[in-house]
Amino acid sequence: MDAFEQTQNRIDPKITVDSKPFWDACAQHRLIFQQCAVCGHVRWPASVICPECSSFSFIWTESRGIGRVYSFVIFRRAFHPYFENRIPYVVASVLLEEGPVLLTNIVGCEATSVECDMPVEVVFLKTENRVTLPLFSPRSGSALKGVNYAR
Ligand SMILES: [Zn+2]
Repeated sequence: MDAFEQTQNRIDPKITVDSKPFWDACAQHRLIFQQCAVCGHVRWPASVICPECSSFSFIWTESRGIGRVYSFVIFRRAFHPYFENRIPYVVASVLLEEGPVLLTNIVGCEATSVECDMPVEVVFLKTENRVTLPLFSPRSGSALKGVNYAR
């Protein structure tokens, strides 16, 4: 039995020197991303270099935490003990209005009600290990329907 099988807790992300400001902001219920100081590209995951223009200069910019479901999968089988009492659950890629795509969970609704292009907003989950994860739930109202923020 390895460490993956031993824990009943959710497996938390590995926090790196580059991503630590992102996770610290999540703990404050804020979503921030690196934005290139040269070309303006907003990126995730955090990195030392802009994938668009190779600049090392960036600032941290705050996201409104609003996006749309780009794609998703409904898990009906638990591949880790943490999820045994949580199936079905949704793993989704969410396209944020600032441009980054986050791999996350959709919560706060029935798994079968999730659709591509569904407006969602960030909610935060503090795990047993005290890491705060950005998850997404359906956005109240549908005022954003029809708005396209794909780049
Ligand atoms: Zn750049």
